[in-house]
Amino acid sequence: MVDFGLGCTRAAHEAGLRGKDFAAGFVTHLHSDHVVELPGFLLWNWGDPVEGFTGPVSVLGPGRDETHPAGGTLAGTRDLVAHALRAYSYDIDIRVHDEARPDLAALLRTVDLATPAHGSAEAARPFEVYEDSRVKVTGILVEHPPVRPALAFRFDTDAGSVVFSGDTAECAGLAVLAQGADVLVHEAVNLDFYADKGFAPAFLNHQRLSHTTPEGAGRVAAAAGVGRLVLSHLAGRAEPEWWSSRAAAFFDGPVDVAASGQRFAVGAPVASAV
Ligand SMILES: [Zn+2]
Repeated sequence: MVDFGLGCTRAAHEAGLRGKDFAAGFVTHLHSDHVVELPGFLLWNWGDPVEGFTGPVSVLGPGRDETHPAGGTLAGTRDLVAHALRAYSYDIDIRVHDEARPDLAALLRTVDLATPAHGSAEAARPFEVYEDSRVKVTGILVEHPPVRPALAFRFDTDAGSVVFSGDTAECAGLAVLAQGADVLVHEAVNLDFYADKGFAPAFLNHQRLSHTTPEGAGRVAAAAGVGRLVLSHLAGRAEPEWWSSRAAAFFDGPVDVAASGQRFAVGAPVASAV
């Protein structure tokens, strides 16, 4: 799973995925629209009664932000999960004792990823995130100010490779991470939509500095030489053609505008692939 936005628990279930299939979750950054349903996903997919996970699973994401202009230390992924487990301790304790479910906390391997400092030489290079028998995951820092770190992830498997941009402004590092990938799933923003609606300058500025136009997503896809660009997590409304035509002006390959529940084939068909 990549990010845990609103509706992810139901969407995963409707896609035929069950908790027992869950091995690891990857959090790009800690904006609430990317993590609000992480507690719900874990609580809904835990233990035999719900076909949930009963062995160790991993949740990996950004660590604490100790340099933020807001001051103090902002919570990281481990904090988020630990606090959620405390908040739902009544339910967890009840189910451990009443339904003989395993201890949820003991099943979770939550990792604050060690990420390069922004602006350092290492920040321009991909770093290792996770590996098991089926997938190798690498990450790179992307530009989503003032959120730091914000991450993109690349998933390499025998069947092919997929890259998720997370939230980012047009980012050269992302093109490095996505080099030659089969599919690039990239966010996009329609700045005209927000300008026309008269949104506040601070909000418009955030959209401009922290997100990517469809033209920009097309440029990144072209620079990376990916096989397919899928635009997803779209900010501001427009018809699918509005998004795809702007990206296609800069990228020769296929461009899709993702709909909820949509599936994309990667590489050669694999019988067990979902
Ligand atoms: Zn964000």
